Amino acid sequence: MSVADIYEKRATFSFEVFPPKTDVGMEKLCGKDGVLDKLYTLEPDYISCTYGAGGTNVGKNLEVLDKIQKDGKCTPVTHFTCIGNTKEDIKEKLQTYLDHGIDHMLALRGDLPFGWTGTNGDLHYATELVKFVRKEFGDKFTIAVAGSPEGHIACEDLNLSVEHLKQKQDAGASFFVTQLFFDNECFYRFRELADKAGITVPITAGIMPFMGKSQISRMVFMCGASLPSPVIKILAKYENDPESLQAAGVDYAARQLCDLKEHGADGLHLYTMNRPAIAATIMERLG
Ligand code: FAD
Repeated sequence: MSVADIYEKRATFSFEVFPPKTDVGMEKLCGKDGVLDKLYTLEPDYISCTYGAGGTNVGKNLEVLDKIQKDGKCTPVTHFTCIGNTKEDIKEKLQTYLDHGIDHMLALRGDLPFGWTGTNGDLHYATELVKFVRKEFGDKFTIAVAGSPEGHIACEDLNLSVEHLKQKQDAGASFFVTQLFFDNECFYRFRELADKAGITVPITAGIMPFMGKSQISRMVFMCGASLPSPVIKILAKYENDPESLQAAGVDYAARQLCDLKEHGADGLHLYTMNRPAIAATIMERLG
């Protein structure tokens, strides 16, 4: 069943993992009783796997998705980017996913590797990728796309950013998964703007628990999410106590997700950082 059909019936719950760089990491993720096995017990609707975030480590993405597909516990969703890909590359690579039974994708422009000013590929924006996939593959893929509740970091005008999202819907995207955010009010305002702009497909809220000061500052500078005062206070309070800071980060994410659920979010997506214990704690809180 397509994930798009699930959205028609109820809100979805999903996880994101990333492909580890080493064989040991792969064993931890995909091996017996590994991260994936633990995530399956939480019964997500789908698990998505990143693709070369930051321009590196595309390598084991297909292996991870292949494992999810073969295990048959939930739908595998591959992330796929325009970075460094010609149209021919895209056709070939996407056909490989289909050959492996993977027919859900999150179509992205991709994070630009350090020093790059463009994608160095034939396509420049996610909208072009969605159009291209629809032209070449018709309805074979269910296509998700990214949305930024506070506007994309490279676009200072939130209304323009939302217009660009509408273009992705018009090109054939079936649902949105948002960039991380720490202030739910930003998400609710964004939902209203999206609604006014004619966005009708489901918008899934993406949440990442913060684990430490350096991680949070890296993420904030990468995506432009704002840090609300409660988060800054937590960071200050536990500055010298990493364990309590992590627990507070998980608690904060759980509270965000509970609030989003109460406010009728179309879907909840947890950036698990390949840490199933965090996902389990949060799921317990969500009931
Ligand atoms: P786009 O929608 O193409 O937008 C990029 C910029 O171009 C924006 O500023 C937008 O406003 C602007 N724009 C769009 N259309 C036009 C137009 N017609 N004219 C002028 N400007 C335009 N990155 C990875 O590399 N790998 C991953 O696996 C990955 N996974 C992600 C998962 C999620 C859920 C999210 C939210 C992001 C993920 N990213 C990943 C990051 C993503 O690639 C970056 O946010 C990237 O900077 C933009 O990607 P996009 O698909 O949103 O781009």
